[in-house]
Amino acid sequence: MIEITEIAKNVAVVKNEIARAARDAGRDPSEIRLVAATKMNDAERVRAAVEAGVDICGENRVQEMLEKNALGAYAGVPLHFIGHLQKNKVRQVVGLCSLIHSVDSVSLLQEISRVAEKRGCVQDVLLEINIGAEESKSGFSPEELENALAQAAGLPAVRVCGLMAIPPVCETPEENRPFFLKMKKLFVDNGQKKYDNVRMDFLSMGMSGDYTEAVRCGANLVRVGSGIFGPRQQP
Ligand SMILES: *Cc1c(COP(=O)(O)O)cnc(C)c1O
Repeated sequence: MIEITEIAKNVAVVKNEIARAARDAGRDPSEIRLVAATKMNDAERVRAAVEAGVDICGENRVQEMLEKNALGAYAGVPLHFIGHLQKNKVRQVVGLCSLIHSVDSVSLLQEISRVAEKRGCVQDVLLEINIGAEESKSGFSPEELENALAQAAGLPAVRVCGLMAIPPVCETPEENRPFFLKMKKLFVDNGQKKYDNVRMDFLSMGMSGDYTEAVRCGANLVRVGSGIFGPRQQP
């Protein structure tokens, strides 16, 4: 594990790199928000990242998130859910997280809407796309997306705010470019169709190894973990 004092330096480096990639692509750096992927880092380390200026915290596991939230780890920034969400954990996430990045089935969308409606709120979500068509990954295929959006349009308490992807593991960031560009095209094409409860505001893609490439291809939410916190301890 890296020293806690390194976290602020890393956040500064990542923010700089994001700004540089944005300007390279002719984009305004302020359009892009940095989500710290905080899994396996304790509340103290998360607070260090928040103090250093990450825009958002993103968690993967519900139990870990609830424990750190009770310690005030995320105070001052929005909290997003970025991991695989099981239907029986939806109750613990709705309302607490301002955005769920990782909705990967229509039945999960329905469950989120059901829980949010009961609470009297509307939950913002992204739809996860399995852009590399990988057996091991969840998410909608590009062909399934239209049906998912049409289903979302009929749900009372869920609002689709964009798309998210985790492309295949690659040797170099450039190899992910075709996947990022495909995502950008899906994002733009589907943003032009008008569905109720759907607006394509956020394109969540890019992790420590490839976030600059993702920004060049149009991402406006990047999820960076080890680039901020150092390598994670293997469980
Ligand atoms: C862990 C994680 C990240 C960050 O991964 P790094 O390679 O450590 O930057 C991003 N997105 C999701 C969904 C993750 O689980």
